[in-house]
Amino acid sequence: ESSVKDSDLMHIIHVTAEMAPIAKVGGLGDVVTGLARASLSRGHTVDIVLPFYECIQKQQINDLALISTYDSYHDGNWIPTNAYRGVVSGIPVIFIEPSNEFFKGQQVYGGSYNELEAYLFFSRACLEWMQVTGAQPDIIHVHEWQIGALPLLYWDMYQYLSLKKPRIVLTIHNMEHYGECRQEQLSKCGLDGSMYATAEKAVDDRTIGHNPERLSLLKGGIVYSNAVVTVSPTYLKETLCSGWLASTLMMHCDKYFGVLNGIDTAMWNPATDVFLPAKFHAQKIEGKKLCKYYIQRGLGLAAKSITSSNHVPDATVKIPLVVCITRLVPQKGLHLITHALKHIEELGGQMIVLGKAPDGRVEGEFKRLADMHNQGPSIRILLMYSEELSHMLYAAADMVLVPSMYEPCGLSQIIGMRYGSVPVVRKTGGLADTVFDMDDQSNPEIANGFVFEGIDEGSLNWALDRAFAYYRDKPDEWNGIVKKVIEIDNSWNNTAGKYIEVYNSVRGRS
Ligand code: ADP
Repeated sequence: ESSVKDSDLMHIIHVTAEMAPIAKVGGLGDVVTGLARASLSRGHTVDIVLPFYECIQKQQINDLALISTYDSYHDGNWIPTNAYRGVVSGIPVIFIEPSNEFFKGQQVYGGSYNELEAYLFFSRACLEWMQVTGAQPDIIHVHEWQIGALPLLYWDMYQYLSLKKPRIVLTIHNMEHYGECRQEQLSKCGLDGSMYATAEKAVDDRTIGHNPERLSLLKGGIVYSNAVVTVSPTYLKETLCSGWLASTLMMHCDKYFGVLNGIDTAMWNPATDVFLPAKFHAQKIEGKKLCKYYIQRGLGLAAKSITSSNHVPDATVKIPLVVCITRLVPQKGLHLITHALKHIEELGGQMIVLGKAPDGRVEGEFKRLADMHNQGPSIRILLMYSEELSHMLYAAADMVLVPSMYEPCGLSQIIGMRYGSVPVVRKTGGLADTVFDMDDQSNPEIANGFVFEGIDEGSLNWALDRAFAYYRDKPDEWNGIVKKVIEIDNSWNNTAGKYIEVYNSVRGRS
């Protein structure tokens, strides 16, 4: 744990659609929990405000209690709303529960309610809650398009009521989700939507000139926040150069920062992880071999080489095991993931994909691949979301594959490294900031994995071939890389200070 305590202490409230582990879909949930914990341990007061999704498992919340009942505006009505307080993984959380249909259903996203309107409601209900309870945090830290209307509501409405002190920081975790919103939809949260349909405010620049009806909550959030952060320095550069938000970001570049995500080392720790059959750390790595053996046996991979139950046969351990743990969406390089299955099998390795496909067509394609391979000796495709299994796979793997087309930061390569899995990644966004090629002679001290640039199969093959050759031909060097990646400090303890600097730079200014 970090012993750094900041001298100038703040109250920070995160407003977010996701929080790990109770409402996590992807990296957003991890980032919020990790950053909140690190800020708490530096001495700050931190709350996370989250919709009270029906799917949240209440037994994961400690000390849950109703703290206020109030009304919040939506579409001409005042909706009776409950606020609860609870503690999740040691972090104080406030749950906002409207009495209408919003946030009902078995999943975080994709319920039968109107998602855009639900998050517009939520953004206002958070401010309304601060207003009725008299909370005056120093920083309201909002995340992604879902909370993009909060900065507008704050500066154009609640500043004129009694909320005066807070300043707003927006983190953009993925620039491809714009939060498309029609003027009349924005009006449902009580703002005059037509006021925001200008290029300087929130008009969606892709439709400028022919559809001023369309707004982007993400753009509005950028314009109206005191500071905007994205999740890696390379992604910051990429987003200033291309994409339709580039000109808005350029215009606001003095308040735009790139802070590399960390990981929550309390949640991700191979030395204490309750999900692992054997624990390990850099000085005592044997447990990792056992984790690999358990996974191989448990999933029926390489079963033929197993002789006795308490002996780990070398032949099994020598087969390189590659894992890929990801949402199955085009961003993640689906064609390269499917190609890797083929190539790794040809190379005599094993590959496990753990992924969920929100799109039915993609799901169908991977189901077909699963049917084709899952009875065989070398490939498993697990189409589900499982936190437990993800921990076991990171621990069991020799390599973690991240062949993304673009990747704002990417956590799975960082988590993989913490568990001694060597990353094989495409050089883009945060992957380029965290993985450095073993064969790049210019900077051998930081070399920690295998990197390729192209989006074609040949580029991926080249990286996998080199990784497999290292693994098989230079076992001592390979063990050296494994130790090295475990010891890299990508923790929030190490990087939360950059966020604290951003918070300090906006405090007390408007
Ligand atoms: P993104 O935020 O784009 O989904 P990241 O790499 O930043 O990508 O974060 C992904 C996070 O979600 C990691 O913690 C990863 O382990 C986890 N994850 C993704 N898919 C699954 C799954 N099917 N089961 C369990 N965890 C998953």
